[in-house]
Amino acid sequence: MLDNVKVILVGTSHSGNIGSAARAMKVMGLTEMVLVSPQCSVDEQTMSLASGAGDVAQHAKIVDTLEEAVSDCALVVGSSARSRTLEWPMLEPRECGVKFIQEAEKGKVALVFGRERTGLTNDELQKCHYHVCIPANPEYSSLNLAMAVQTLSYEIRMAWLEKEAQQYSAPVEEEYPRHKELELFYQHLENVILDTQFIAKDKPNLVMNKLRRLFSRARPELQELNMLRGILTSVEKSISDKK
Ligand code: SAH
Repeated sequence: MLDNVKVILVGTSHSGNIGSAARAMKVMGLTEMVLVSPQCSVDEQTMSLASGAGDVAQHAKIVDTLEEAVSDCALVVGSSARSRTLEWPMLEPRECGVKFIQEAEKGKVALVFGRERTGLTNDELQKCHYHVCIPANPEYSSLNLAMAVQTLSYEIRMAWLEKEAQQYSAPVEEEYPRHKELELFYQHLENVILDTQFIAKDKPNLVMNKLRRLFSRARPELQELNMLRGILTSVEKSISDKK
């Protein structure tokens, strides 16, 4: 599914950034890089900063226009540090990750990054269905290109891991006690703590209400409630043995 996620870098001018972006992608399981009209080549600097992810940069497809890069994509999201200047549907980084994973199941999706100095043009931003903005320090909000790739790739991975976990773990169906079983427990508890004189016979509700609140908050499962009933029974038995 992650193979359907394209990371598109538009007009990148520092070859090292391509390498760092490749590394940022590969650690998150993304491998499809597209370079739109790069202003540098994939060189030594790229390979050095890519570390073990040189393959991602070397296999990057190079095209002339954003149009070409996204032609097979059903979802295109443009990332920008200043998206709010253009009125456009926005996604939070987390939502963006989830949306990518939902749609990557059906086909190709693209995350677009702009030039180091000038970002994406309005024309390019208008080719995107949504914009995503990493909510950084408003006074200094522009991340280094590869760091922006890292942050958004991480969100995609988190959404993917979440989906994987849901798929492979059967939903745990806890069995909770029914109302009458809870009432029987409260009755039992009250009897025992009256017996031990923890609460006074004339005003048992003061403590009982607090205990009810505690157990409502904890929401014991049926098995846990049975254990508590067992403890109460053992207390009763121990009292009657001593009598
Ligand atoms: N001065 C440029 C910043 C370019 S940084 C500008 O104002 O747009 C290079 C690319 O990194 C940006 O085009 C964008 O794709 C990405 N980027 C940087 N900071 C970002 C942020 N806070 N949110 C989303 N993308 C960001």
